[in-house]
Amino acid sequence: MSLVVVGSMAFDAIETPFGKSDKIIGGAATYIAWSASNFTKPIKQISVVGGDFPQEELDALTARGVQLEGVQIKKNEKSFFWSGRYHMDMNTRDTLETQLNVLENFTPVVPDSYQDCEFLMLGNLVPAVQRSVIQQMKKRPKLIVMDTMNFWMEIALDDLKDLLTMVDVLMVNDSEARELSREYSLVKAAKKILTMGPKYLIIKKGEHGALLFHENHVFFAPALPLEDVFDPTGAGDTFAGGFIGHLAKTKDISFDNMKTAIIMGSAMASFCVEKFGTQRLTELKKSEIDARLEEFVQLVNFDIDLV
Ligand code: AMP
Repeated sequence: MSLVVVGSMAFDAIETPFGKSDKIIGGAATYIAWSASNFTKPIKQISVVGGDFPQEELDALTARGVQLEGVQIKKNEKSFFWSGRYHMDMNTRDTLETQLNVLENFTPVVPDSYQDCEFLMLGNLVPAVQRSVIQQMKKRPKLIVMDTMNFWMEIALDDLKDLLTMVDVLMVNDSEARELSREYSLVKAAKKILTMGPKYLIIKKGEHGALLFHENHVFFAPALPLEDVFDPTGAGDTFAGGFIGHLAKTKDISFDNMKTAIIMGSAMASFCVEKFGTQRLTELKKSEIDARLEEFVQLVNFDIDLV
């Protein structure tokens, strides 16, 4: 039984008010894999890269327990490229450029060895590609979690809505939840989105934490207040990796365990932002994750006497 991760593997160029990166490794599935591999192994990756994607990066993922049989390498093409610039609040950003390159004609093929998939994480990618992976699964996974972004809402809304009827958990950020539902109130937005298919909805609010909605229940997890945020790119994907990684490890998909999974995701995301790109995730130790989880416990732990 395994965790299958689908998503972009990419080059990113990032500008923040505090610095600028050249082309560095990014992509939703890259961040998810680095994050989830702290909880469960193997991770079975589905993506596509060009001949320009460094072999050392693929080797580092393999060494980490990420299987790459489902990652196509298009030798004569270029990898997906995304560049973005963060505003002063480091919570909002503008996309400067999206070059689909290999993603333009990507047809995913799910290898036979991935058919034992129990947990499926659909990271940010063309909705039709995400759907194709679900359709190729001979047995429906126990849990399908989907992440997406405004880019796809703008150019592939019908495909995205169709996909929503096939997934269990949707993850979006607050502005995407508003765009998808056309509601400003996140509570109203959640109610509307939960009628579109998913049984659970996670709304990520960057440095303001994350909300989990299910039926009439709501759970809130804060983000850890950090002294320095260097680069928020990939924080959402890293959150997704921690969330699905914890669920795949514990094999418990109850609402209560999803609350714990959201804290795991938040803890992982707090590391991601500390350095540019995936760097902080690649050097992370278990003892650091444990210490940070303890910080989360302290952050929200209080006594109250109701008289
Ligand atoms: P996040 O900051 O969690 O939203 O994720 C940022 C990552 O998503 C970057 O590493 C990008 O390479 C990747 N990304 C950006 N735009 C897209 C897109 N349209 N499709 C797939 N991946 C994307």
